[in-house]
Amino acid sequence: MENLYCLRCNREIEAGQKSVAVYMFAQTVGVRPRQKSAARRICFCPQCSVSLAMGPPPEGALNVAAWMMIRELVGADPALTEAAWETLRGVVGLLPAEGSDGTPRRSTGTEGYFEF
Ligand SMILES: [Zn+2]
Repeated sequence: MENLYCLRCNREIEAGQKSVAVYMFAQTVGVRPRQKSAARRICFCPQCSVSLAMGPPPEGALNVAAWMMIRELVGADPALTEAAWETLRGVVGLLPAEGSDGTPRRSTGTEGYFEF
């Protein structure tokens, strides 16, 4: 299976990971034989899905249509919001928290680089 990337932040989305997928295809109407474009799958990671859904409507009719669908999904189930929060917590966890591990901040070598 191809690797999927969040359209907004380019984060890789692994198979089975919580995300929002927007499927799109175009087809002709009233034309025989009917022409149908290949279906495209556009993915958003939980953070971008929630951020988009909470944000103002984007410009462009197609964007607004997709935005309304994402809002519907994000509003229907808190799982995505929770996943976004979990990711956020993970990022915060990577940052050194001063004093939280019992060691003084200045003892970590690299910190000296920032002292002028
Ligand atoms: Zn994203």
